[in-house]
Amino acid sequence: MEETALRFFNTMTRKLEIFESQEVDHARLYTCGPTVYNYAHIGNLRTFLFEDVLRRTLQLFGYRVTQVMNLTDIDDKTILGASQAGVTLREFTDPFVEAFFEDMKTLRAQPAEHYPRATDFIPQMTELVQRLEAEGHAYRSEGSIYYSISTFPGYGKLSGVRPEANLAGARVDSEEYEKENARDFVLWKGARENEPSWDTPIGPGRPGWHLECSAMSMALLGDSFDIHTGGTDNIFPHHENEIAQSEGATGKIFARYWLHAEHLIVEGEKMAKSKGNFFTLRDLLDRGHDPLAIRYLLISVPYRQKLNFTFDGLHAADQAIERIANTLRRLQHSPPSDGDGDLGAEAVEAFGSEFRDALGDDLNTARALAALHTLLRQVNTALDGGGISAAVRDELDAAFAMADNVLDIFPPSASDAASDDEEIERLVAERCEARKTRDFKRADEIRDRLAELGVVVEDTPHGAVWHRKS
Ligand code: AMP
Ligand code: ZN
Repeated sequence: MEETALRFFNTMTRKLEIFESQEVDHARLYTCGPTVYNYAHIGNLRTFLFEDVLRRTLQLFGYRVTQVMNLTDIDDKTILGASQAGVTLREFTDPFVEAFFEDMKTLRAQPAEHYPRATDFIPQMTELVQRLEAEGHAYRSEGSIYYSISTFPGYGKLSGVRPEANLAGARVDSEEYEKENARDFVLWKGARENEPSWDTPIGPGRPGWHLECSAMSMALLGDSFDIHTGGTDNIFPHHENEIAQSEGATGKIFARYWLHAEHLIVEGEKMAKSKGNFFTLRDLLDRGHDPLAIRYLLISVPYRQKLNFTFDGLHAADQAIERIANTLRRLQHSPPSDGDGDLGAEAVEAFGSEFRDALGDDLNTARALAALHTLLRQVNTALDGGGISAAVRDELDAAFAMADNVLDIFPPSASDAASDDEEIERLVAERCEARKTRDFKRADEIRDRLAELGVVVEDTPHGAVWHRKS
């Protein structure tokens, strides 16, 4: 059977294209990371999980992946935060860097190969500015250095925001200008009072926001690499400016495929603190939501569609996770049958090719999940009937392992979970809560789950205690 090709919608060409890496079997990927002035919100995390599914899909298609995700630890927001808190930039950003890694781990994101921090790459950034000056793309004004977009004919090719002749020489210093107007942008900001600054060969100051991604991607992935991603808000001006900086300096194509995730909205509206609909992962965990259900929900909608986050949707994701876990558990606990029951190897094979084709189709996670649920339904039907043979079980194990490598939404396996006291503590606490509210059905379900993990719970006058079965 012919293998399906991996296809991506490339923002640059506005077309679905077959992915071809520059190096054989090696995909190099740059993903714009968090600005570490606060906890990541679930919109940010949606984009980061799209990138997680992207890297795992590349692996599914046989690529080794080198992913770089930058940590923006110097920009207007981090500087303001540090100054309001009366601490250094590092002191201010360190805890948010740590929280970011924690959140990503909680959501089971595979770690990237590199997490460069902007402030660790000042020499590479100033060197890039020197190259741009030498190539005639940069000019100085009042102690700062700007990029002259009229010197780069390709400006606007990604976003379609072309420079207007009457705005020639118009400049912006601020980092996010959403006016959809092309402007000369700041590469290097001259030193100002109350702002961190570095003494460098191009003068004292600090980098503009866009510079770091050009300098760090080129340092860690080379002048040209395969895929560059971010949220749609990154297309203009951030990615447009990165292209101008990198291609202006090297004359080479910067990245060949540009993928952008649509935004997450909450209950149909843009997230805003003032609307009370702004959530970090921690907010949702504090309300008792399961990180696995959050992961499920965030990856379930294909990345080029807006994701409308609702609590109904989260509840449905919870149920989907539970359904998956139940079927896997049921399969594990039912002995192999002699015959194949209803489920033949063809069904498993059909799942495999549909799953792969769905992800190859510009990461269509909705289709991939639908295929998984179909297979699980077939497994249940077969178990209700004649059962499933040992041979088909082997096929199923391989199919589930493939699905899990990309989606990572299966419950921890008994052996993993048994070594994880935290998970047990959580279940024991949940069971206590269920008993308190006289939800004995739930309490018994949890006791059964704990038993599967090899854990015995005893209710004593001092509360529940647990131990592992010897
Ligand atoms: P930031 O921390 O603001 O630099 O953003 C980190 C990443 O999250 C970037 O790739 C943004 O494009 C993305 N992002 C920001 N807001 C949203 C949102 N509401 N939904 C999805 N992605 C977002
Ligand atoms: Zn970036």
